[in-house]
This record gives sequence, C-alpha cells and structure tokens, in this order.
Amino acid sequence: MVGVAMQSEEVLHTPTSSVPAFDVEAVRRDFPILQQKVHGKPLVYLDNAATTQKPQAVIDRITQYYETENSNIHRGVHHLSELSTNAYEDVRKQASRFIGAAEASEIIFLRGTTEAINLVAQGWGRPKLGPQDELVVTEMEHHSNIVPWQMLCEQTGATLRVAPIDDQGDVILEKYERLLNDKTRLVAMPHISNALGTIPPIRQMITMAQQHGALTLVDGAQAIAHLPVNVAELGCDFYTVSAHKMFGPTGVGFLYGRRELLEEMQPWQGGGDMISTVSFSGTSWNKVPHKFEAGTPDIAGVIGLGEAIRYLQGLDSQQVMAHEEQLLSVARQKVGAIPGVKLIGSAVQQASILSFTVQGVHPHDVGTILDQAGVAIRAGHHCAQPVMEHFGVPATVRASFALYNTQREVDALVAGLQEVREIFS
Ligand code: PMP
Repeated sequence: MVGVAMQSEEVLHTPTSSVPAFDVEAVRRDFPILQQKVHGKPLVYLDNAATTQKPQAVIDRITQYYETENSNIHRGVHHLSELSTNAYEDVRKQASRFIGAAEASEIIFLRGTTEAINLVAQGWGRPKLGPQDELVVTEMEHHSNIVPWQMLCEQTGATLRVAPIDDQGDVILEKYERLLNDKTRLVAMPHISNALGTIPPIRQMITMAQQHGALTLVDGAQAIAHLPVNVAELGCDFYTVSAHKMFGPTGVGFLYGRRELLEEMQPWQGGGDMISTVSFSGTSWNKVPHKFEAGTPDIAGVIGLGEAIRYLQGLDSQQVMAHEEQLLSVARQKVGAIPGVKLIGSAVQQASILSFTVQGVHPHDVGTILDQAGVAIRAGHHCAQPVMEHFGVPATVRASFALYNTQREVDALVAGLQEVREIFS
C-alpha cells in the first residue's frame, strides 16, 4: 500500500498503476468512527501515522472475546481458558504467516514497537555489548528507535553512530556505508519514516550491514499497514509492529526475532508465565517466545490484532497500494501548490505521509484551524526531533493517509489550508 511520490512532475501526473479501482466507499462503511461529524463538519481523519481507526470487525471481535471467551491463558484447565489460549496462540501463527516468519515462536507479543525495541536493546544488547562495540541508526528515526539505543550505550559503553539524511529525506548511502565496520553490532532503521514518509532502501541497507556481520532491526511501525512485509525476503533479524497502526487495538503489537537470536537473548522482565521453574535457589526460563511474555498479556488486544490482520488480508493489497499512491501523489501536488506551503521531504520513495510547513503560521495554529473544518492532522515534531533539526524547523504539519481516505478528503485539507492562509494574510 505504498504511495511512491517520484520526484519528477511527469511521474506525479501519471497514474502509476493499472490495478482495478478500489472501492473506498465500501471500505469506509467498515469504520464506524468515520461516519461522524466534528464541529458540524464530516470528519476527515488524516492522522493515521499516529494511530489508525478500527473496523467494526475488530471492535466486534474484542467484544465477542469479553462476552464469550474471557479467561486467563496458558495455565487454566477449564473450557474458557482453553478457548482464550487457543485464540491467543492462533494469532501468533497468523502474525508469523502475515510477515513471512519461519515459525510462530518467532513472534513475541508486547505493547508495540516501543516495547519491542526496548526488549532487543535490553535482552540482546545489554548482556552482549561493551565499549568496543558500535550501533548504527539513521537520522530519520522515531525517538523510540533512538532512545533505547542511547540508554543501552550508557549502560554498556558502546557507541551510537548516526547515518545522515540528505535534504530530500533520503539516507545518504555512501555515508551509511562508511559508518559500517567490524565493530558494528546492530543497525536499526525505519521501514517508513513517520516524519517524512521516506521508504529507505532497507534491503540494500540490510545487506550492507550483514557484510560487516551486524544484526539488523527494522522499525515497521509505519509500514505494516502500507507495504507488504516479508521478513525472510528482507533478511532482517528483528522487525517491530504496533497493532494500532494497522487498524488493530492500542497497547499491543509484536516483535519478530530470528529464533536462534531469541534463544540467546536474556528475558527482560521477570514474572509469571516466563519461567519454567522457580525456587529460591534458582529459576529457569520458559521456552521462546514465552520467556519474553511475563505476566498476563493483553489477551483481548492480541485477539483484536488477529482480526485486524484478517481484515487487511481480506482486501486486495495491490488495489490498496495503488489507491494510497494516488492519494499521496494528488495531495503532494495540490498542497504543494498552495502559496507559502513548503513540503518537507521528497524522497525517491515515499508512502502515506505528507509533512509540510505554512509560511508565517505555527503548525499548531494550522492544526487548530483545520480541526474547526473537521480535518484531523498532527502538528509537532512527531517524536523525530533530529529530523526537525535537519530541516531547520521546530515542527511540521503532518497529513497521513490510510486506505479509507478519499480524494474528497484531500480537497477538504486543501480548502482548510486556504482558509489558514486567508486568516493569517
Ligand atoms: N516508530 C515509528 C516510525 C512510529 O511512527 C512510531 C509511532 N508513532 C513508533 C515507532 C512507536 O510506536 P508505538 O508508540 O506504537 O510503540
């Protein structure tokens, strides 16, 4: 579901796909929240990079779980516990197939991408790294793919290196390559940047990292609802997912990790379910993946995530990608043509995100005026302050698209921005 906004005008004007039309109105009917009005205007929800809306099927599945299956998992011997354990473990299988993992045990359910990255930093990095080691991230990371590594470096004495981006918002590959050496233990990169929409060439970056014996972690928070993901094809060692960015519930997600790495990793949190035996003379760990899932997990959330996967798999991904590509392309043209608007980021490959500034108007004021028009966007640093620093702005306005958005909504955004200009002129 990629919107590839090529740099040439010619490509921007040319439909980039011959895939049959996508029935966006039918899809919209699946999302009850989209039917409402905000400040008397139809809701135009363009804040999908922050979180996506939930289809009725996901909402119903969670309700059904609480109405008919609710019970704690794994330890029960009764009917309901068996139902909920099976439903929970089925989602592990479903998620592993969805991203092309070799086996279900490579999926660890957690709170989401943030917790997944922290688990790798603490479970893999903390026992293994020392002052001689280096980690590499890109300049376009979300804070959750920076701060856990900074904390790890403080704890171990390792060094964090940063691969810079250019003024289009692309990783400068030659500079990235120069950072890699035999001390590089892990490279972390985004599949899609949440601040710029850039899709970095991660396959190439992974191969380059592997040539130096480094592990790779891909932050998939933004990609999972927009791009087909196959970890075997990517060749990465870790991949992170947040359910709420892919039409599933908040507070849940998963880490994919290669089995042999998960086996070597230390548990990060101790508690129930992650142990095999406990005694005061010593405790032994449960097997992978349970050794990383201490305590009662978000069972309903995981089951809701399974329904979100099912929902996405029920759509034609090629059609969805072509639809989103078209939305982003038209939005770039129309928003970019408004006097005083400066688009931030024009990477070779982009998806679903339009970041911009309006001359003389603070992004928060833009957001407030758009909100009065029923248009929900995000204004701020998008938890990517190094990106803001690179472009010399404190904040941007970010419109982010999902499969249920329409050209009509792009026009509502454009009309709202024209109003912003009138108010501030
Ligand atoms: N990485 C990226 C690229 C993101 O966009 C986000 C969410 N904004 C995160 C990581 C963190 O995800 P979560 O808050 O779901 O843990």
